[in-house]
Amino acid sequence: MLHIGCHLSSADGFLAMGRTALGIGADTFQFFTRNPRGSRAKAIDPADAAALMELIQKEHFPVILAHAPYTLNPCSAKAETREFALETMADDLKRMEFTPGMLYNFHPGSHTKQGTETGITQIADLLNQILTEEQTTTVLLETMAGKGTEVGRTFEEVAAILDRVELGGKMGVCLDTCHIWDAGYDIAGDLDGVVAEFDRVIGLDRLKAIHLNDSLNGRGSHKDRHARIGEGRIGLDALVAVTNHPQLRHLPFFLETPNDLDGYAKEISLLRSHYREEK
Ligand code: FE
Ligand code: FE
Ligand code: ZN
Repeated sequence: MLHIGCHLSSADGFLAMGRTALGIGADTFQFFTRNPRGSRAKAIDPADAAALMELIQKEHFPVILAHAPYTLNPCSAKAETREFALETMADDLKRMEFTPGMLYNFHPGSHTKQGTETGITQIADLLNQILTEEQTTTVLLETMAGKGTEVGRTFEEVAAILDRVELGGKMGVCLDTCHIWDAGYDIAGDLDGVVAEFDRVIGLDRLKAIHLNDSLNGRGSHKDRHARIGEGRIGLDALVAVTNHPQLRHLPFFLETPNDLDGYAKEISLLRSHYREEK
């Protein structure tokens, strides 16, 4: 069975997201832990979180994926910006324990001309300060398109961060198809090769989630503009091949395509119709 969902608004709370997901044919979803641009987080209603956990079990959701605000920058040249990222992520990880055992994804950040090496060190330092033995959440580094001074534009950069994290067992990777295409990885022409390279450099055991997006731009463009499935330069066939790949097909897939709920429902049903069930 294909595990797939999309990005949902958290405005109406946890249980509402779970029900919305079911209503569009999804069995998982992604949401922002707080306003993606702002810093304030609504207080968590423990009863609402518990109600979602019950729904997740009853409806066999594999997992859900929380996304950190994308404005955080764990490797900014400005110390106060790094500190803000640290405090926000540490607070998010506390909040995540209301929905135990789930995934928390973040963007490694932009080194803002400090150099990739410094960026990698700062990101790992931040993780080493916020990860705890007790946490049940797995924290995911997202693969990036390489816009500007973004860190995480190659599998090697992602691996270098993971290598420096002390509690490595709490870490994983979220692969974004639009981002790695824009970063230069040819998932349309040589998916097997890209998967083998991921395994060689990072290790497939680290891969916990896939952001399934088409891209408006050509391979290697470093642009990061998402397109609807089949309406971009990666194309439907290549994205269907990603969901069916023997080493990826068990993972949860999350759409971050420009869509309303109706559009998401259609993409989910399209991808389900192309998914080869195992005999
Ligand atoms: Fe993201
Ligand atoms: Fe993404
Ligand atoms: Zn993106």
